[in-house]
Amino acid sequence: MTVDLSPYLSAVPDAVVERIRGAKRVLAVSHENPDADTVGATLGVVRMVERLGGRVDPVCTDPVPPIYDFIDGVELFRTDPDPAAHYDLLVLSDCATPERVGPVGERHRELFERLPRVVIDHHASNAALAEADWIDPDAAATCEMVALLVTCLGVPLGSDRALATALMAGIVMDTATFAHPNATPRTLAVSAALVEAGAPLSDISRRLYRSKPENQLRLFGRVLDRLTSFDEGRVVASTLLDADLAATGTQPPHSEGIIDLLAQAERAEVAILFKEAGETTRISVRTKPGGVDATVLTGLFGGGGHARAAGATLPLPVDRARDAVLAEARKAAAAVAR
Ligand code: 5GP
Ligand code: MN
Repeated sequence: MTVDLSPYLSAVPDAVVERIRGAKRVLAVSHENPDADTVGATLGVVRMVERLGGRVDPVCTDPVPPIYDFIDGVELFRTDPDPAAHYDLLVLSDCATPERVGPVGERHRELFERLPRVVIDHHASNAALAEADWIDPDAAATCEMVALLVTCLGVPLGSDRALATALMAGIVMDTATFAHPNATPRTLAVSAALVEAGAPLSDISRRLYRSKPENQLRLFGRVLDRLTSFDEGRVVASTLLDADLAATGTQPPHSEGIIDLLAQAERAEVAILFKEAGETTRISVRTKPGGVDATVLTGLFGGGGHARAAGATLPLPVDRARDAVLAEARKAAAAVAR
């Protein structure tokens, strides 16, 4: 390997390295509605602990969507811990709060509270403070952090193409292939190491961002056609109804990517996608650099994420959620001075 990650390894806390090194039977949990970053990071934990002689069960409360099938190991995910296993460590990856694991955390509350834990996350809104909670908002992706951890543990990235692919997928996902401002020199150095280790970068990028079933494109068309803008375009919004999914034969994960198209609206300080989910509404929010902090806006509704990309779930039907969120978004956008 010619790419040298050693200048970056001091960022990895000793407590995290020690807990991972000492673990024999790990419960590695991703967030609900999984994306490539949480999936890749969790599988990274699987590979790394296995290389060190331990065993890991990757768990996600939701089935992993088929678009991630190209990542070796997704078939290992289960929706619940193994009742027969004697776990000695819980690892949460890419979860801004412990509740982000979703219903599996409620189904196994006692286990989740009892196990020693490691948290690996890059959300600025994460308030976790325990000894082995590693929160790095400067990391573009949780997978970037896991790549450093793997290297700290002496597991060569170059020895495992599947590991490199899983970690590369998370970085490609969370940077939109290095297009977002979160991609730093460290992100690129880690990515160079992963590509050197055999991660098929352009193939991963195509699969995650430039390849869609036709029904998904039709879904995008319906939602984009419904774009509404406010205040000379400073706020743009659209709505994805359950009826759109039914009409196009798509599932909720197919909405991934629509918000990033809405956010291309030239003048928009805030772009919002409202996603009907029965009697509740999921929102995705994107904001322009130097403008509205998306974690502040979504925080008003119990959500969070990153300054430029955040989300929330509101216990309101979509029309009422729209009224409530748009009022706050228009106020926040009006306060931005350019
Ligand atoms: P997306 O809009 O792509 O679903 O999410 C954008 C970002 O916000 C992601 O980094 C995601 O982890 C975070 N996020 C989305 N929904 C929530 C939520 O309900 N709570 C918190 N804390 N973060 C969220
Ligand atoms: Mn992430």
